[in-house]
Amino acid sequence: MAGNDLEFRVGLGHDTHRLVPGVPLVLGSLVIPYDFGLLGHSDADIVLHALTDALLGAAAMGDIGELFPDTDSQWAGAPSSIFVTTACNKLTAEGWRVGNVDVVIHAEKPKLSPFKTKMKNALANLLEISPDCVNIKAKTGEKVGTVGLGDAMECQIVVMIQRPSRPT
Ligand code: MG
Repeated sequence: MAGNDLEFRVGLGHDTHRLVPGVPLVLGSLVIPYDFGLLGHSDADIVLHALTDALLGAAAMGDIGELFPDTDSQWAGAPSSIFVTTACNKLTAEGWRVGNVDVVIHAEKPKLSPFKTKMKNALANLLEISPDCVNIKAKTGEKVGTVGLGDAMECQIVVMIQRPSRPT
C-alpha cells in the first residue's frame, strides 16, 4: 500500500436539550441573546455535544456520556469546549485529523443567521481546522413537534476524519 494513502471515517452526532426561561442560550460556544436557554448538567451546548459525539463516533471511541457522565459533579456547568477538546486530543493521539464538519441546528427561534459566521469560526478554532471546512445550517421546526413548539432545540452533526493509512 502506498505510504501517502489516506484512511477516512465519518461520524454522526445528535443532541437535544429542553428550553427553559432564565438560562443563557449557549450554541456553538457563543452566548446568543434570547429569553430562553438550554437546560443541562453542563452549559447544555447542543452543538458542542453533538460535535463531541460525532468525533468520538468517527474514531469508534464511544460517546460523550461514557467520557463525561452527567452524574459527575466536575462537569456541572462546565463549558462544553472541554468535551470537544478532549475528544480531539484522543483522535490526535491516534493520528486522526478532522477533514470537515457539517452542522444542522434545529431551532424555532431566535434567528441564527446573524451568528453563523462567528460560530463557524469558533468551531474551526476549537478543531484547529480552516473555517472553510465547517458548515452551519439552521432549520426551524415549522411550528410542529418539540422544536417547532419552542420546547427544545436539537443539533445534528456529521464529521469526516482522516489519517495516513496504517499497514494492515
Ligand atoms: Mg447534551
